[in-house]
Amino acid sequence: MNKSFDLAVVGAGIIGLSCARAAALQGLRVVVIDRDARSNGASVRNFGFVSVTGQERGTAWTRARLTCTIWEEVARQAGVTITQRGLWMMARRPEAVSVLEAFVRTEMGEGCRILSRAAATSRCRELAGADLQAVLESSIELRVESREAVPKIAAWLAERYGVVFLPQTAVLSVEPPRLETSRGVVNAGAAVVCPGDDVASLFPEQIAKYNVTRCKLQMLRLADPGFRLPGVLMSDLGLVRYAGFSALPEAAALRERLAAEQGRHLQHGIHLIAVQSSDGTLVVGDSHHYAQTADFFADERVDRLILDEFAAATGRPPSAVRERWMGTYASCTDRSMFIDAPARNVRIVMITSGSGASTGFAIGEEVVAELFGWSAA
Ligand SMILES: Cc1cc2nc3c(=O)[nH]c(=O)nc-3n(C[C@H](O)[C@H](O)[C@H](O)COP(=O)(O)OP(=O)(O)OC[C@H]3O[C@@H](n4cnc5c(N)ncnc54)[C@H](O)[C@@H]3O)c2cc1C
Repeated sequence: MNKSFDLAVVGAGIIGLSCARAAALQGLRVVVIDRDARSNGASVRNFGFVSVTGQERGTAWTRARLTCTIWEEVARQAGVTITQRGLWMMARRPEAVSVLEAFVRTEMGEGCRILSRAAATSRCRELAGADLQAVLESSIELRVESREAVPKIAAWLAERYGVVFLPQTAVLSVEPPRLETSRGVVNAGAAVVCPGDDVASLFPEQIAKYNVTRCKLQMLRLADPGFRLPGVLMSDLGLVRYAGFSALPEAAALRERLAAEQGRHLQHGIHLIAVQSSDGTLVVGDSHHYAQTADFFADERVDRLILDEFAAATGRPPSAVRERWMGTYASCTDRSMFIDAPARNVRIVMITSGSGASTGFAIGEEVVAELFGWSAA
Protein backbone atom coordinates (compact mmCIF):
# COMPACT_ATOMS: atom_id res chain seq x y z
CA MET A 1 0.00 0.00 0.00
CA ASN A 2 1.86 3.10 -1.28
CA LYS A 3 -0.71 5.65 -0.17
CA SER A 4 -0.27 7.32 3.17
CA PHE A 5 -3.07 8.30 5.51
CA ASP A 6 -3.69 10.81 8.28
CA LEU A 7 -5.37 8.17 10.44
CA ALA A 8 -5.29 4.38 10.53
CA VAL A 9 -8.13 2.72 12.43
CA VAL A 10 -7.63 -0.87 13.56
CA GLY A 11 -10.96 -2.73 13.76
CA ALA A 12 -14.04 -2.27 11.59
CA GLY A 13 -16.61 -2.74 14.36
CA ILE A 14 -18.90 0.11 15.38
CA ILE A 15 -16.16 1.80 17.43
CA GLY A 16 -13.66 1.72 14.57
CA LEU A 17 -16.33 3.02 12.19
CA SER A 18 -17.26 5.77 14.66
CA CYS A 19 -13.65 6.97 14.80
CA ALA A 20 -13.33 6.70 11.00
CA ARG A 21 -16.51 8.73 10.56
CA ALA A 22 -15.37 11.47 12.93
CA ALA A 23 -12.02 11.80 11.14
CA ALA A 24 -13.45 11.55 7.61
CA LEU A 25 -16.00 14.28 8.37
CA GLN A 26 -13.05 16.61 9.07
CA GLY A 27 -11.49 15.80 5.72
CA LEU A 28 -8.79 13.44 7.00
CA ARG A 29 -7.55 10.56 4.83
CA VAL A 30 -8.58 7.45 6.72
CA VAL A 31 -7.81 3.74 6.38
CA VAL A 32 -9.72 1.07 8.36
CA ILE A 33 -7.98 -2.27 8.75
CA ASP A 34 -9.66 -5.47 9.96
CA ARG A 35 -8.49 -9.04 10.06
CA ASP A 36 -11.88 -10.42 9.08
CA ALA A 37 -13.39 -10.46 5.60
CA ARG A 38 -16.61 -8.95 6.92
CA SER A 39 -17.91 -7.64 10.23
CA ASN A 40 -18.08 -10.54 12.63
CA GLY A 41 -17.57 -9.15 16.14
CA ALA A 42 -19.88 -7.83 18.84
CA SER A 43 -21.05 -5.01 16.58
CA VAL A 44 -23.04 -7.37 14.34
CA ARG A 45 -24.08 -9.86 17.04
CA ASN A 46 -25.85 -7.37 19.26
CA PHE A 47 -29.48 -6.25 19.52
CA GLY A 48 -28.78 -3.07 17.57
CA PHE A 49 -30.48 -1.32 20.47
CA VAL A 50 -29.26 2.27 20.76
CA SER A 51 -30.28 2.76 24.37
CA VAL A 52 -30.19 5.92 26.44
CA THR A 53 -32.62 5.21 29.29
CA GLY A 54 -30.73 3.13 31.85
CA GLN A 55 -27.21 4.11 30.77
CA GLU A 56 -24.98 5.07 33.69
CA ARG A 57 -25.76 8.54 34.97
CA GLY A 58 -23.33 11.25 33.80
CA THR A 59 -20.90 10.78 30.93
CA ALA A 60 -22.30 7.49 29.56
CA TRP A 61 -25.86 8.84 29.50
CA THR A 62 -24.71 12.08 27.81
CA ARG A 63 -22.71 10.12 25.23
CA ALA A 64 -25.72 7.90 24.56
CA ARG A 65 -27.96 10.91 23.90
CA LEU A 66 -25.48 12.31 21.40
CA THR A 67 -24.88 8.91 19.82
CA CYS A 68 -28.62 8.44 19.32
CA THR A 69 -28.82 11.77 17.47
CA ILE A 70 -25.84 10.84 15.30
CA TRP A 71 -27.42 7.44 14.52
CA GLU A 72 -30.45 9.28 13.09
CA GLU A 73 -28.17 11.29 10.82
CA VAL A 74 -25.97 8.34 9.81
CA ALA A 75 -28.99 6.10 9.19
CA ARG A 76 -30.47 8.68 6.83
CA GLN A 77 -27.23 9.19 4.94
CA ALA A 78 -26.10 5.56 4.81
CA GLY A 79 -29.53 4.11 4.00
CA VAL A 80 -29.83 2.23 7.29
CA THR A 81 -33.40 1.38 8.35
CA ILE A 82 -34.45 2.28 11.88
CA THR A 83 -36.54 -0.79 12.61
CA GLN A 84 -37.94 0.34 15.95
CA ARG A 85 -38.26 3.37 18.19
CA GLY A 86 -38.72 3.77 21.92
CA LEU A 87 -38.42 1.65 25.06
CA TRP A 88 -41.24 -0.22 26.82
CA MET A 89 -39.95 -1.23 30.25
CA MET A 90 -42.51 -3.51 31.88
CA ALA A 91 -42.62 -3.57 35.70
CA ARG A 92 -44.40 -6.46 37.36
CA ARG A 93 -43.43 -5.88 41.01
CA PRO A 94 -44.17 -2.87 43.23
CA GLU A 95 -40.43 -2.59 43.96
CA ALA A 96 -39.82 -2.25 40.20
CA VAL A 97 -42.47 0.48 39.94
CA SER A 98 -40.64 2.37 42.74
CA VAL A 99 -37.42 2.25 40.71
CA LEU A 100 -39.24 3.61 37.65
CA GLU A 101 -40.82 6.39 39.70
CA ALA A 102 -37.46 7.36 41.16
CA PHE A 103 -35.89 7.27 37.69
CA VAL A 104 -38.37 9.67 36.10
CA ARG A 105 -37.69 12.16 38.90
CA THR A 106 -34.01 12.38 37.83
CA GLU A 107 -32.67 14.40 34.90
CA MET A 108 -32.45 11.06 33.03
CA GLY A 109 -36.23 10.84 33.02
CA GLU A 110 -36.47 13.45 30.25
CA GLY A 111 -38.51 11.98 27.39
CA CYS A 112 -39.85 9.18 29.64
CA ARG A 113 -43.22 8.68 31.32
CA ILE A 114 -44.87 5.99 33.40
CA LEU A 115 -48.00 4.35 32.07
CA SER A 116 -50.42 2.67 34.45
CA ARG A 117 -51.40 -0.91 33.69
CA ALA A 118 -54.68 0.31 32.20
CA ALA A 119 -52.95 2.87 29.96
CA ALA A 120 -50.30 0.39 28.87
CA THR A 121 -52.70 -2.42 28.05
CA SER A 122 -55.00 -0.12 26.13
CA ARG A 123 -51.97 0.92 24.04
CA CYS A 124 -50.86 -2.69 23.52
CA ARG A 125 -53.38 -5.36 24.49
CA GLU A 126 -51.01 -8.14 23.34
CA LEU A 127 -48.69 -7.38 26.29
CA ALA A 128 -51.28 -7.47 29.06
CA GLY A 129 -49.53 -10.08 31.24
CA ALA A 130 -51.42 -10.79 34.48
CA ASP A 131 -48.60 -9.39 36.64
CA LEU A 132 -47.99 -6.19 34.68
CA GLN A 133 -48.20 -3.19 37.00
CA ALA A 134 -46.80 -0.29 35.01
CA VAL A 135 -44.61 0.56 32.03
CA LEU A 136 -41.83 3.11 31.66
CA GLU A 137 -42.19 4.43 28.16
CA SER A 138 -39.33 6.31 26.55
CA SER A 139 -39.45 7.81 23.10
CA ILE A 140 -35.71 8.41 22.73
CA GLU A 141 -34.33 4.97 21.86
CA LEU A 142 -33.95 3.50 18.42
CA ARG A 143 -33.02 0.14 17.02
CA VAL A 144 -31.22 -0.94 13.85
CA GLU A 145 -30.50 -4.37 12.37
CA SER A 146 -26.78 -4.41 13.11
CA ARG A 147 -25.88 -7.12 10.65
CA GLU A 148 -27.16 -4.83 7.89
CA ALA A 149 -26.32 -1.46 9.41
CA VAL A 150 -22.60 -2.01 10.04
CA PRO A 151 -21.72 -3.03 6.44
CA LYS A 152 -23.89 -0.18 5.12
CA ILE A 153 -22.07 2.38 7.26
CA ALA A 154 -18.72 1.03 6.03
CA ALA A 155 -19.89 1.25 2.39
CA TRP A 156 -21.16 4.80 2.94
CA LEU A 157 -17.86 5.91 4.50
CA ALA A 158 -15.98 4.44 1.53
CA GLU A 159 -18.24 5.97 -1.11
CA ARG A 160 -19.01 9.34 0.45
CA TYR A 161 -15.70 10.08 2.17
CA GLY A 162 -13.17 7.89 0.37
CA VAL A 163 -12.35 5.92 3.53
CA VAL A 164 -10.17 2.98 2.46
CA PHE A 165 -11.03 -0.44 3.94
CA LEU A 166 -8.44 -3.21 4.15
CA PRO A 167 -10.26 -6.45 5.08
CA GLN A 168 -8.56 -9.76 5.83
CA THR A 169 -5.55 -7.85 7.10
CA ALA A 170 -4.26 -8.40 10.63
CA VAL A 171 -2.42 -5.49 12.19
CA LEU A 172 0.75 -6.78 13.80
CA SER A 173 2.28 -3.58 15.19
CA VAL A 174 1.30 0.08 15.46
CA GLU A 175 4.09 2.67 15.48
CA PRO A 176 2.91 5.58 13.35
CA PRO A 177 3.88 6.54 10.74
CA ARG A 178 4.32 2.80 10.25
CA LEU A 179 1.80 -0.01 10.87
CA GLU A 180 2.90 -3.53 10.07
CA THR A 181 0.15 -5.76 8.83
CA SER A 182 -0.15 -9.31 7.53
CA ARG A 183 -0.28 -7.78 4.05
CA GLY A 184 2.55 -5.27 4.26
CA VAL A 185 3.18 -1.84 5.72
CA VAL A 186 0.53 0.88 6.01
CA ASN A 187 1.66 4.49 6.49
CA ALA A 188 -0.41 6.76 8.69
CA GLY A 189 0.35 9.78 10.87
CA ALA A 190 -1.80 8.55 13.76
CA ALA A 191 -3.71 5.42 14.75
CA VAL A 192 -6.73 4.43 16.81
CA VAL A 193 -6.88 0.80 17.88
CA CYS A 194 -10.46 -0.45 18.40
CA PRO A 195 -9.87 -4.19 18.85
CA GLY A 196 -13.16 -5.25 20.44
CA ASP A 197 -12.33 -7.96 22.97
CA ASP A 198 -8.86 -8.77 21.60
CA VAL A 199 -6.61 -8.05 24.55
CA ALA A 200 -3.55 -9.92 23.31
CA SER A 201 -2.59 -8.83 19.78
CA LEU A 202 -1.78 -5.13 20.13
CA PHE A 203 -0.58 -3.26 23.22
CA PRO A 204 -1.23 -6.20 25.60
CA GLU A 205 0.66 -4.51 28.43
CA GLN A 206 -1.36 -1.29 28.26
CA ILE A 207 -4.61 -3.26 28.09
CA ALA A 208 -3.57 -5.54 30.98
CA LYS A 209 -3.66 -2.50 33.33
CA TYR A 210 -7.45 -2.54 33.09
CA ASN A 211 -7.98 -6.21 34.10
CA VAL A 212 -10.15 -6.91 31.11
CA THR A 213 -12.04 -10.16 30.92
CA ARG A 214 -14.61 -11.37 28.40
CA CYS A 215 -18.35 -11.62 28.69
CA LYS A 216 -20.26 -14.25 26.69
CA LEU A 217 -23.92 -13.63 25.82
CA GLN A 218 -26.55 -16.02 24.42
CA MET A 219 -29.06 -14.62 21.94
CA LEU A 220 -32.12 -15.95 20.09
CA ARG A 221 -34.31 -14.93 17.20
CA LEU A 222 -37.99 -15.82 17.53
CA ALA A 223 -40.64 -16.02 14.81
CA ASP A 224 -42.92 -13.01 14.21
CA PRO A 225 -45.40 -13.00 17.14
CA GLY A 226 -48.05 -11.48 14.85
CA PHE A 227 -48.08 -7.94 16.25
CA ARG A 228 -45.74 -4.94 16.43
CA LEU A 229 -44.02 -4.27 19.75
CA PRO A 230 -44.77 -0.80 21.17
CA GLY A 231 -41.02 -0.34 21.80
CA VAL A 232 -37.96 -2.35 22.78
CA LEU A 233 -39.10 -4.58 25.66
CA MET A 234 -37.30 -4.83 28.97
CA SER A 235 -38.37 -6.21 32.34
CA ASP A 236 -37.67 -6.05 36.10
CA LEU A 237 -34.34 -7.86 35.69
CA GLY A 238 -33.01 -4.96 33.58
CA LEU A 239 -33.60 -2.57 36.47
CA VAL A 240 -30.92 -4.23 38.57
CA ARG A 241 -28.49 -4.57 35.67
CA TYR A 242 -28.46 -1.19 33.89
CA ALA A 243 -26.50 1.30 35.99
CA GLY A 244 -28.86 4.22 35.34
CA PHE A 245 -31.52 2.29 37.27
CA SER A 246 -29.51 -0.06 39.48
CA ALA A 247 -27.53 2.76 41.12
CA LEU A 248 -30.73 4.36 42.44
CA PRO A 249 -31.33 3.59 46.15
CA GLU A 250 -34.80 2.22 45.29
CA ALA A 251 -33.17 -0.65 43.36
CA ALA A 252 -31.96 -2.30 46.58
CA ALA A 253 -35.42 -3.61 47.54
CA LEU A 254 -36.00 -4.91 44.03
CA ARG A 255 -32.61 -6.65 44.02
CA GLU A 256 -33.47 -8.38 47.27
CA ARG A 257 -36.81 -9.57 45.96
CA LEU A 258 -35.34 -10.78 42.67
CA ALA A 259 -32.62 -12.67 44.54
CA ALA A 260 -35.36 -14.54 46.40
CA GLU A 261 -37.61 -15.12 43.39
CA GLN A 262 -35.31 -15.29 40.36
CA GLY A 263 -31.96 -16.39 41.75
CA ARG A 264 -31.13 -18.58 38.74
CA HIS A 265 -31.74 -15.72 36.31
CA LEU A 266 -29.43 -13.48 38.33
CA GLN A 267 -26.82 -16.23 38.59
CA HIS A 268 -26.64 -16.43 34.78
CA GLY A 269 -26.72 -12.64 34.38
CA ILE A 270 -30.01 -12.84 32.54
CA HIS A 271 -32.14 -9.84 31.81
CA LEU A 272 -34.69 -9.36 29.08
CA ILE A 273 -34.28 -7.31 25.95
CA ALA A 274 -36.62 -8.07 23.05
CA VAL A 275 -36.36 -6.06 19.84
CA GLN A 276 -38.25 -6.43 16.59
CA SER A 277 -36.91 -6.60 13.04
CA SER A 278 -38.57 -5.33 9.86
CA ASP A 279 -39.84 -8.85 9.06
CA GLY A 280 -41.55 -9.02 12.48
CA THR A 281 -39.11 -11.51 14.01
CA LEU A 282 -37.85 -10.77 17.53
CA VAL A 283 -34.26 -10.76 18.74
CA VAL A 284 -34.40 -11.84 22.38
CA GLY A 285 -31.66 -12.12 25.01
CA ASP A 286 -29.50 -12.25 26.93
CA SER A 287 -27.20 -13.86 29.50
CA HIS A 288 -23.79 -12.83 30.86
CA HIS A 289 -21.00 -15.30 31.67
CA TYR A 290 -17.45 -14.12 32.35
CA ALA A 291 -14.11 -15.80 31.54
CA GLN A 292 -10.73 -14.89 30.08
CA THR A 293 -11.54 -17.11 27.09
CA ALA A 294 -15.25 -17.63 26.65
CA ASP A 295 -16.33 -21.15 25.73
CA PHE A 296 -18.48 -21.38 22.61
CA PHE A 297 -21.18 -23.70 23.92
CA ALA A 298 -24.70 -22.33 24.17
CA ASP A 299 -26.36 -23.89 27.21
CA GLU A 300 -29.98 -24.79 26.48
CA ARG A 301 -30.89 -24.23 30.14
CA VAL A 302 -29.76 -20.63 29.82
CA ASP A 303 -31.87 -20.14 26.69
CA ARG A 304 -34.84 -21.60 28.59
CA LEU A 305 -34.36 -19.08 31.40
CA ILE A 306 -34.27 -16.22 28.88
CA LEU A 307 -37.47 -17.50 27.27
CA ASP A 308 -39.10 -17.95 30.70
CA GLU A 309 -38.44 -14.31 31.45
CA PHE A 310 -39.90 -13.35 28.08
CA ALA A 311 -43.06 -15.32 28.88
CA ALA A 312 -43.34 -13.93 32.42
CA ALA A 313 -42.83 -10.31 31.34
CA THR A 314 -45.06 -10.37 28.27
CA GLY A 315 -47.70 -12.84 29.46
CA ARG A 316 -47.26 -14.69 26.15
CA PRO A 317 -45.54 -17.94 25.22
CA PRO A 318 -42.46 -17.25 23.08
CA SER A 319 -42.86 -18.02 19.37
CA ALA A 320 -40.63 -20.59 17.64
CA VAL A 321 -36.86 -20.13 17.83
CA ARG A 322 -35.45 -19.31 14.39
CA GLU A 323 -31.77 -18.65 15.22
CA ARG A 324 -29.39 -18.90 18.14
CA TRP A 325 -25.96 -17.29 18.44
CA MET A 326 -23.42 -16.08 20.92
CA GLY A 327 -21.46 -12.90 21.18
CA THR A 328 -18.63 -11.73 23.38
CA TYR A 329 -17.46 -8.33 24.52
CA ALA A 330 -14.63 -7.02 26.66
CA SER A 331 -15.60 -6.47 30.28
CA CYS A 332 -14.20 -4.61 33.30
CA THR A 333 -15.75 -4.56 36.75
CA ASP A 334 -14.89 -0.91 37.39
CA ARG A 335 -15.51 0.92 34.08
CA SER A 336 -17.73 0.75 31.02
CA MET A 337 -14.96 1.77 28.60
CA PHE A 338 -11.44 3.14 28.46
CA ILE A 339 -9.28 5.23 26.18
CA ASP A 340 -5.54 4.71 26.56
CA ALA A 341 -2.68 6.63 24.97
CA PRO A 342 0.31 4.30 24.51
CA ALA A 343 2.03 6.95 22.35
CA ARG A 344 1.47 10.61 21.46
CA ASN A 345 -0.24 9.69 18.20
CA VAL A 346 -1.93 6.39 19.17
CA ARG A 347 -5.13 5.73 21.11
CA ILE A 348 -6.67 2.45 22.22
CA VAL A 349 -10.46 2.51 22.61
CA MET A 350 -12.09 -0.45 24.30
CA ILE A 351 -15.73 -0.65 25.35
CA THR A 352 -15.83 -2.86 28.43
CA SER A 353 -19.61 -3.19 28.75
CA GLY A 354 -22.58 -3.85 26.50
CA SER A 355 -22.93 -0.27 25.34
CA GLY A 356 -20.80 0.30 22.24
CA ALA A 357 -23.72 0.70 19.82
CA SER A 358 -25.28 3.22 22.22
CA THR A 359 -22.24 5.38 22.96
CA GLY A 360 -19.85 4.73 20.04
CA PHE A 361 -20.47 7.70 17.76
CA ALA A 362 -19.96 10.17 20.62
CA ILE A 363 -16.82 8.35 21.76
CA GLY A 364 -15.46 8.38 18.18
CA GLU A 365 -15.87 12.17 18.01
CA GLU A 366 -14.17 12.66 21.39
CA VAL A 367 -11.23 10.38 20.60
CA VAL A 368 -10.48 11.90 17.21
CA ALA A 369 -10.87 15.47 18.46
CA GLU A 370 -8.48 14.86 21.34
CA LEU A 371 -5.97 12.97 19.16
CA PHE A 372 -5.76 15.76 16.59
CA GLY A 373 -5.94 18.55 19.16
CA TRP A 374 -9.32 19.90 18.07
CA SER A 375 -11.89 21.00 20.57
CA ALA A 376 -14.65 18.37 20.86
CA ALA A 377 -17.84 18.98 18.84
C1 LIG B 1 -24.72 -10.26 22.17
C2 LIG B 1 -24.42 -8.80 22.36
C3 LIG B 1 -25.45 -7.89 22.50
C4 LIG B 1 -25.17 -6.53 22.64
N1 LIG B 1 -26.19 -5.63 22.61
C5 LIG B 1 -25.91 -4.30 22.56
C6 LIG B 1 -26.93 -3.37 22.31
O1 LIG B 1 -28.07 -3.71 22.03
N2 LIG B 1 -26.61 -2.05 22.41
C7 LIG B 1 -25.34 -1.63 22.64
O2 LIG B 1 -25.11 -0.43 22.71
N3 LIG B 1 -24.33 -2.51 22.78
C8 LIG B 1 -24.58 -3.83 22.73
N4 LIG B 1 -23.57 -4.72 22.84
C9 LIG B 1 -22.21 -4.22 22.97
C10 LIG B 1 -21.68 -3.71 21.62
O3 LIG B 1 -22.05 -4.60 20.59
C11 LIG B 1 -20.15 -3.56 21.71
O4 LIG B 1 -19.85 -2.66 22.79
C12 LIG B 1 -19.56 -3.00 20.44
O5 LIG B 1 -20.02 -3.72 19.32
C13 LIG B 1 -18.05 -3.03 20.48
O6 LIG B 1 -17.60 -2.57 19.22
P1 LIG B 1 -16.09 -2.71 18.80
O7 LIG B 1 -15.97 -2.04 17.48
O8 LIG B 1 -15.22 -2.25 19.91
O9 LIG B 1 -15.82 -4.29 18.71
P2 LIG B 1 -16.10 -5.37 17.56
O10 LIG B 1 -17.39 -5.19 16.89
O11 LIG B 1 -15.83 -6.69 18.21
O12 LIG B 1 -14.97 -5.07 16.48
C14 LIG B 1 -13.60 -5.22 16.72
C15 LIG B 1 -12.92 -5.52 15.40
O13 LIG B 1 -11.51 -5.43 15.56
C16 LIG B 1 -10.90 -6.38 14.73
N5 LIG B 1 -9.53 -6.57 15.21
C17 LIG B 1 -9.13 -6.77 16.50
N6 LIG B 1 -7.78 -6.84 16.55
C18 LIG B 1 -7.32 -6.68 15.28
C19 LIG B 1 -6.02 -6.67 14.70
N7 LIG B 1 -4.90 -6.81 15.43
N8 LIG B 1 -5.91 -6.51 13.34
C20 LIG B 1 -7.02 -6.34 12.60
N9 LIG B 1 -8.29 -6.35 13.10
C21 LIG B 1 -8.42 -6.51 14.43
C22 LIG B 1 -11.81 -7.58 14.85
O14 LIG B 1 -11.65 -8.45 13.74
C23 LIG B 1 -13.19 -6.94 14.90
O15 LIG B 1 -13.79 -6.86 13.60
C24 LIG B 1 -23.81 -6.10 22.71
C25 LIG B 1 -22.78 -7.01 22.59
C26 LIG B 1 -23.06 -8.35 22.40
C27 LIG B 1 -21.93 -9.32 22.24
